[in-house]
Amino acid sequence: MELSEDILPIDVWDRIFESLNLPELHRLSVTSRAFYVAVRNHLNLRFRLLLKEYVSDVSEFRCLMWNSEVVISGSRALQFVMPTPSPAWTIQPADLDLYAPLDQEDEILAQLLDEEGYRLDRWLDNLSIPPFPNKIHDEHTMYNMSQDIARIITVSHPKRQKSIDIIVSDSSSPLTAIFAFHSTPVMNWISAYSVTVAYPLMTFNGRGLISALNFAGSATVLSHRVQYALLKYRDGRHFTFATDPSEWEGVHACGTRHNCLQTIRHSNDVGTAFMTFSPRRRMPKDTSRRARRRDVKVGAIWRLGGSLCALGNDSNRQYGKGMQPFRVAVSDLTRRW
Ligand SMILES: [Zn+2]
Repeated sequence: MELSEDILPIDVWDRIFESLNLPELHRLSVTSRAFYVAVRNHLNLRFRLLLKEYVSDVSEFRCLMWNSEVVISGSRALQFVMPTPSPAWTIQPADLDLYAPLDQEDEILAQLLDEEGYRLDRWLDNLSIPPFPNKIHDEHTMYNMSQDIARIITVSHPKRQKSIDIIVSDSSSPLTAIFAFHSTPVMNWISAYSVTVAYPLMTFNGRGLISALNFAGSATVLSHRVQYALLKYRDGRHFTFATDPSEWEGVHACGTRHNCLQTIRHSNDVGTAFMTFSPRRRMPKDTSRRARRRDVKVGAIWRLGGSLCALGNDSNRQYGKGMQPFRVAVSDLTRRW
C-alpha cells in the first residue's frame, strides 16, 4: 500500500514531509502503515541529501558511519530534525560535525581524504590544546576540550567549499562529548539509520537549558565561548534559554521530570524523540562479532546535573550545590533494555 495519489500527487506529499519536524513526522507515521513507510522513506532521503552535500559516495560513507558507530550532531543534526523553524534561522549551519568513538575515526578519515578529495586542515589532540580563556571567535572554542574529547580533526573540500569536523570522544561511545555541549537544543544525534533528540519537548518549543557543566568548578558566570554559542542560538536561531526548567515545568520534585537536569535519562526513555529511517534488512552485512552485536541505535545514559531546580527548592538555588553530572554513554548496555 502506498500513499494515495488520488488525494495528492506523491511529489506534493514529499514537499509536505520536507517541511515537517521530527515529532510531526512521527505523529504522521503512526496514523497508518502507508504513512509509516512514507515517513521512513522520507527521512532516509533527508539523510542522504544531507550527506550528499559533503560526500559523493553516500552509501559507502553511511556504511562507514555504521561500522565505526560515528554519528552526526551539532547544528546540522538540529536542522535535520527541525528543517523549517519558525521564525527562520538567520544563522545557517555550514560545517558537518561527526562524532566518533575513541580510535574509531580512521576509516571515515581515510574515506574523506583518499576517496572524497578532502584535505587535512587541522589535527588537535586534547593535551596539545591550551585553554581558550577569552578567545571567542575560534569555532573550536565551541567544544569542551577539557574532559570529553580526545581529538578534533578538521578536513575541508576546496571544490565543495565544505568543512567537516571529526570530534573523537574519549570513550567507546561517540555520545560522551554530546552531553558536554553548552545546552540542550544541540543534544541530538543522527546515526547511520536513526535519529534521536534528547530533549524534544523543550527543543521543538524553542527552549533550551544551559548545561550545568558550564558552571563546573568555581565558575559562576558563563565563559565567553559558551556565551558566544548561546547568543548564536538565541539571536540567530530563536531559542530561549534558562538554567532550570521550573519556569516551564512548574514546581516538581527534581529527578522526576524528563526535562529536569537532575533526572537520570536514557536514550530509550519516553522523554526522547527517536525514529529509525531504514528497514533493518537493508543494513550492511558485516560478519565481524562486534558488528553483529550492534543495533540500530547508539545509546546513552546521562544526567546533566547541577543544582536543584529553583521552584520549590530555594535553598539550593546556587550552582555547585546540587548533584554532580555524570554521563555514561554505553551503546551495548542500552541496547539490551
Ligand atoms: Zn528539577
